[in-house]
Amino acid sequence: MNIVVLCPMQIEHKAVSRELRRAGLSRVPVVQTGIGREAILRALAREMERHGSGALYVLAGACGGLAATADVPPVARVIDEHGGVWRPCSAPDDGAGVTLIGVDRIVATPAEKQSLAERTGAAIVDMETHAFAAECEHRGAAWSVVRGVSDTPEETLPPEVLGWVRPDGGTRAVRAAIDLARRPSLVPHIVGVVRRANRVLPKVGAQVAAVALAWMARTTSEGKVQERGGISPLPLGADATAAIFFGGTFDPPHVAHVELPRRVREWYEAHCGAQGTAWLVYVPATRSPLKEEGPIASDADRVAMLRAALSEGRESGGPIERALVWTDEIDRATSSTDGPSFTVETMERARAWLDGHGRAGVRMRLLIGADQAAQFHRWRSPRRIIELAEPLVMVRDRDAASIVESLRASGFWSAAEIDGWAGRIVPVGTIDVSATAVRAALEVGQQEVAARVLAPGVARYIAERGLYAG
Ligand code: ATP
Repeated sequence: MNIVVLCPMQIEHKAVSRELRRAGLSRVPVVQTGIGREAILRALAREMERHGSGALYVLAGACGGLAATADVPPVARVIDEHGGVWRPCSAPDDGAGVTLIGVDRIVATPAEKQSLAERTGAAIVDMETHAFAAECEHRGAAWSVVRGVSDTPEETLPPEVLGWVRPDGGTRAVRAAIDLARRPSLVPHIVGVVRRANRVLPKVGAQVAAVALAWMARTTSEGKVQERGGISPLPLGADATAAIFFGGTFDPPHVAHVELPRRVREWYEAHCGAQGTAWLVYVPATRSPLKEEGPIASDADRVAMLRAALSEGRESGGPIERALVWTDEIDRATSSTDGPSFTVETMERARAWLDGHGRAGVRMRLLIGADQAAQFHRWRSPRRIIELAEPLVMVRDRDAASIVESLRASGFWSAAEIDGWAGRIVPVGTIDVSATAVRAALEVGQQEVAARVLAPGVARYIAERGLYAG
């Protein structure tokens, strides 16, 4: 993997590793370096030897706040106290973002923080990024930094804390306990810092995942050899203002998989698209994290059947326009052993691909059946999915009122969130068919029953290969 993440402290290393795993990026190495200039330079030299200057190096962890900012503000530039200025490769294009200053001492009190902010215009401070940035640039390597504010401008970070960190970044708990027993006045400050660190570090990890995905998308688009774990191309037409993602096992794809999304798109363009053009993006899954058994047909067969269904799925026999099959989940499963794919990862990857290809304006929506809406709270990071790609819900076997009822019964969603869900239900009618029923018919040799709900090309494909035969 062409990305290396460096975290000075153990707690940062833990939180960032966990979020990368969640994002399906467990193969990205995360290295614990210890704090301060010397430690970061030592670790960087070691990693550069291993990964070379073609990799992206990301420094991630907590930092001090010098002025009011977001928990994890995007960093536009890095400076030091001697006139050094560096720009991370993830700096926002529009000039937004804060200045991070790197120093070689601890900036402890509110007064010191304020004076440093006034003198330099920096909003956050740490003790590694200046040395890290200078060294990466010196060696011609791409670099980025993600920092979350763990001590705010109003807070005192006692210089003693430096002594609580071992050279390798681990915590000297006994020493901390002794210092705190000697100076109980430090306790409230430390409690505040630890509490905030626990809150912001997962956000730092999630941001590191986003930076890593954007880098992977970029290296792919620049025509370099696609990394194992890179993002598969998502070639939306130039006219697309929205992408409606539709995941499923499609084992096999049937008439509801083709006809209902087409109707949903029509409805979406009429009601939410503001004259935009939406593309349908089918995402065949390798294995549903919520289904015990995997698909019966192979990945290649399901992709082939889906393509056949889309190329002649209309009642008139014509192709479904502006629809594509995005094989990222399947491709990813072949190149990694990360286990089942989760929708939140897929949506993060889609967003990263679009952003990395100048399509940041493309809105993402996620199409699901009512059965899936009812158990959406069991999906991984459901609220993050909603942020990335707000669902559109097809009623399937229940009416809108009973969908809302089952969402309420889950006990997971607030009243406001349930209102939000009610607005996501799309009135496109129902088609009473399931892949399970199609497979059951095929198993007992009722080809003609199955054929009634399959595109002709799909029925042919199944017959030629003897799929689903009992
Ligand atoms: P299976 O019977 O094997 O569980 P399925 O027919 O539900 O399969 P999937 O590939 O799991 O098909 O479905 C993909 C998506 O399509 C899911 O969101 C599912 O809820 C939705 N879906 C499938 N069939 C219908 C249908 N008849 N009406 C509305 N939504 C459907």
